[in-house]
Amino acid sequence: MDDNRIIDNLETTGMGNYRSRSRAFCILCDKPVDLLTFDRAVDDLKTSYAEVHKIAENRKLHRINNSKGVVMVCAESLFSYLEGQQTVRLPADLFITNPTDSFA
Ligand SMILES: [Zn+2]
Repeated sequence: MDDNRIIDNLETTGMGNYRSRSRAFCILCDKPVDLLTFDRAVDDLKTSYAEVHKIAENRKLHRINNSKGVVMVCAESLFSYLEGQQTVRLPADLFITNPTDSFA
């Protein structure tokens, strides 16, 4: 096994949990989580950096420093935020399913 290499990449926090560049213990989720960049959060939420920061300010997205001190986003909080988003109903005339309708 390559366990020594993995442990070398980890840094023990005061709470006995491990923090790497892409994983850390999220206090708000109370478990180890994957960390995502703000770029990824902006992409996934299809919004702006300002909006992502606003969502984070409201604690709907959890911010965590990775082992390099870079502020990242807790993946669990991003996924639960996405799941909580309301779907937008598309207008009925967006897709014409009956070809005869197009000649009406
Ligand atoms: Zn979290």
